[in-house]
Amino acid sequence: MDNNFDLVVIGAGSGGVRAARIAATLGARVAIIEGRFFGGTCVNVGCVPKKMFAYASEFTAMAELAENYGFTAQVGAVNWPQLRGNKDKEISRLNGIYEQLLDGAGVSIFRGYGQVTANNTVTVNDQSLVAKHIIVATGGQPFMPDIPGAEHALLSDDLFVLPVLPKTAVVVGGGYIACEFASILNGLGVQVEQVYRGELFLRGFDDDIRQHVATSMAADGVALRFNTDVTAIEKDGSGKTIRLSDNSAIRVDEVFYATGRVPKVSNLFSGVDVATKANGAIMVNDQFETNVPGVYAIGDVIDRVQLTPVALAEGMWLANHLFGDASAQTSAQSVDYANIPTAVFSHPNIATIGLSQTEALDKHSVIRVYRSTFRPLRYTLGDIQQRTMMKLIVDDASDRVVGLHMAGEEAAEIVQGFAVAVRMGATKADFDRTIGIHPTSAEEFVTLRQGETIRKE
Ligand code: FAD
Ligand code: NDP
Repeated sequence: MDNNFDLVVIGAGSGGVRAARIAATLGARVAIIEGRFFGGTCVNVGCVPKKMFAYASEFTAMAELAENYGFTAQVGAVNWPQLRGNKDKEISRLNGIYEQLLDGAGVSIFRGYGQVTANNTVTVNDQSLVAKHIIVATGGQPFMPDIPGAEHALLSDDLFVLPVLPKTAVVVGGGYIACEFASILNGLGVQVEQVYRGELFLRGFDDDIRQHVATSMAADGVALRFNTDVTAIEKDGSGKTIRLSDNSAIRVDEVFYATGRVPKVSNLFSGVDVATKANGAIMVNDQFETNVPGVYAIGDVIDRVQLTPVALAEGMWLANHLFGDASAQTSAQSVDYANIPTAVFSHPNIATIGLSQTEALDKHSVIRVYRSTFRPLRYTLGDIQQRTMMKLIVDDASDRVVGLHMAGEEAAEIVQGFAVAVRMGATKADFDRTIGIHPTSAEEFVTLRQGETIRKE
């Protein structure tokens, strides 16, 4: 086999698969190396199975809603092995599709762990692949703080293969994964406590939204413990005792840690001195090139924005940059990290684009804030008290909408559409001129009228 390529990609996750496919479509001879699973984190232990579990977690509440509409509906307890098994079947199908897509595009596939041994050489198993360009797209892995008993904690990957659903669980952390996992487990009938070291979880999101989600999750039954750290974990018969910084302890069946992710770079380089940050993140310039010419990195391993669509955009841009029409793509057109919409699939969902109120006040001297909290029409036929919050933040000087936030059902679906308008620089007047679709929750974003003017101190 000829082991000379124009491009070798290490890691067949979101970023790697996209870069390899686009490069091959542009006529490059491409190889991809994958050590674990095709589709990477997102397909196997991230976005996709997480969303399936999030759907599963909604059925108990949906049964209550159905009763409000006159149906007799009881869902009982989840059959966890069946849910997990059905999820596994679908994920295997997706693994196959990812491989077929690569194969169909003419990409040579190597199974094993790749190591960059020179600026034009990657070894995998006992083979050396020679390439003009190398893209490292090895993603990340969960970070576990070094505390006594850390080995007893489960990490996010573990939820997807869990043999038995626990009856009680602690979730540690206050970011995306912790809030999603706490909501999923709670919806599946697990008694959940979420332990977070800071004052209020979801640091970085808009404060009103954070507070709204905390209130809603607590009302749903998640016991929230803020300003609390875990000091030790003890294995205790069939369960675990979680020792806390306030000297109390919680005894549960399982403890899940979701305290961030770190770049996956162990054994990746041998004999090449690729510069990394303290957490292992590979340092790259605007064209995703490392300090070693010909070696590039994209996705979670560069730790810019750990989201699948960002890894895809980086992979696409780089493949076009390396193999596309040079005149069509310049450095100025590299991936734009401003105004990236994002969602947390907690219950309620959060979706957001642009600046939080705090960030907006840092940047602009006068802002107008428009808020609305309401009970969606769907819930008005019964006692379900779930409420939706929407918020618009406007720069007073330009009238531009600089932040758009929502917590409530279908938040991600709604905000994706509005994200186009915000990216295009829509003003509040543009929102006001837009006629709503009635009756929806989304129409609230174009009917908000009573703004609060806030000046920088
Ligand atoms: P990955 O998808 O992690 O792919 C890296 C691949 O490289 C892996 O397949 C790995 O096995 C392989 N690899 C590593 N080292 C080597 C080596 N030396 N040789 C060969 N192969 C190697 N993002 C969203 O946008 N929406 C979500 O809803 C969402 N939910 C998430 C839920 C969870 C629980 C987690 C953990 C993440 C979630 N993310 C979500 C984040 C998203 O999954 C990542 O941002 C995305 O997968 C990053 O893509 P990547 O290509 O950089 O890396
Ligand atoms: P996040 O960065 O979102 O959150 C990490 C949490 O862990 C924070 O609350 C942080 O607290 C806390 N933490 C960090 N270190 C410690 C420590 N030593 N002890 C106690 N707590 C600690 O990471 P996640 O693991 O939740 O997710 C990783 C990334 O994956 C996300 O940032 C996101 O980019 C992506 N993702 C995206 C999803 C989506 O799009 N829906 C879903 C899941 C993941 P503090 O805030 O105080 O620093």
